Amino acid sequence: MMPRGRSSFEDGLKQLRPVLMKSEPGAPMTLGAVVAAGLIVWYRECGHEVEPDPAEMAARYGAETPEPDWRERLVCSKCGSREIDIVVTGERRPA
Ligand SMILES: [Zn+2]
Repeated sequence: MMPRGRSSFEDGLKQLRPVLMKSEPGAPMTLGAVVAAGLIVWYRECGHEVEPDPAEMAARYGAETPEPDWRERLVCSKCGSREIDIVVTGERRPA
């Protein structure tokens, strides 16, 4: 289930952009910046939830990968589904 009381991923990105991308307002946010902020990937097919580890994601996909490219490459480790929702939690937002 989607966590209650949290905004959608797109809304979350809008809120995070000024925090994470001060110098490049027009550029796509990077995987590194988005994951570091804290998010949960939710696979709709099976309900599998993953909280991506920033270091692991950076090693696997590259921290500079644009977030939309990364999102398209996510595949559920349990069922292989690509049907995902992403929720920004902000729990790892840097000070
Ligand atoms: Zn799955």
